[in-house]
Amino acid sequence: MKELKLDALLLTHPPDLAYLSQFTGDDSIGLFTADNFHLVTDFRYQEQAAIEAPWLKLVIREGKMSDALARTVAESKAARVGFEANFTQFGTISSLKKALTGPAAAKVKLIPVEDVMVNIRKVKDDVEIAIIRQAVAVAEVAYLALREQIKIGQTENYVAGLMAFEMRCRGATDSSFPVIVAAGPASSLPHYRPGETLVQNNQPLLIDWGARFNGYCSDLTRTLLLGRVSPKMKKAYNVVLEAQQAAIDFLRPGVTTAQADRVARGVIEKAGLGERFGHGLGHGIGRDIHELPTLRKTGGDEELRPGMVVTVEPGVYLPGVGGVRIEDDVLLTDCGREVLSSLDKTFEGCHIE
Ligand code: ZN
Ligand code: ZN
Repeated sequence: MKELKLDALLLTHPPDLAYLSQFTGDDSIGLFTADNFHLVTDFRYQEQAAIEAPWLKLVIREGKMSDALARTVAESKAARVGFEANFTQFGTISSLKKALTGPAAAKVKLIPVEDVMVNIRKVKDDVEIAIIRQAVAVAEVAYLALREQIKIGQTENYVAGLMAFEMRCRGATDSSFPVIVAAGPASSLPHYRPGETLVQNNQPLLIDWGARFNGYCSDLTRTLLLGRVSPKMKKAYNVVLEAQQAAIDFLRPGVTTAQADRVARGVIEKAGLGERFGHGLGHGIGRDIHELPTLRKTGGDEELRPGMVVTVEPGVYLPGVGGVRIEDDVLLTDCGREVLSSLDKTFEGCHIE
């Protein structure tokens, strides 16, 4: 805030608010100044805030959020008030502007800032890393339990529901995003929504899932190959696996996100499948399922640092045939990397006769 010459920062993105305060409710906005931390919320979160974050100065609004927020900003005496441009609704700022009256209306400047909190959050401390390890572990045991239950003839929706159930049975608060289960040709759609398609033999079955545990996310993908596998799919599988392993081996502090993407992309291009890998290599995980750093070929290259936790998830998608994606979660350590997930991903391990 000193660097940006801000007197206050509005915290409108719930993960940012939770990161700084431990308060996990919604529909609330934090106002952070040099000597105070206000939380503007309402009756529904009053008791929760007192339990989770007794150090917050609570402002319990009865009327509009903008009126309570304007009063809190005016009382704080802050002049330059930052807000996260990428995470704040336009309406929140325009109504706050209108609600500022009297001397505050002339004095207060609302200043858009870009990704201040997500840049702080991208390097995890030991406590956060320990929680992410648990989020990964919950997702992994749930997957092992699910594998025992997958049967030909089940719908994608049923399998996705089972996965969410198995994770919550093991302590997950929720899925870290809606579970993706894509049977057969649908697996070539990277962000497919599961539907009523049946799991069938001689097809791939792609499962992309993660657990939210204690506020933090894990994110994994395995592609199961059921029955007879065509040479095309087998080749795609082995190329993706080789690309993923090469990228994981390459990760260490000091290399950049674009370089890591290049390593995986190089393997896939050499196999003649470069066109079929249309997304980036991976992304950070934490309180949000997609965080910084972003591992992709263009747009925002940055050096990896110890404490970052990223996914490595190359894929090859053959329209009309099927897709393969393999995703693991990797912690950047002081001298290299540690793969936090450990589920079998060999062709043999993912091929079910
Ligand atoms: Zn994923
Ligand atoms: Zn992911």
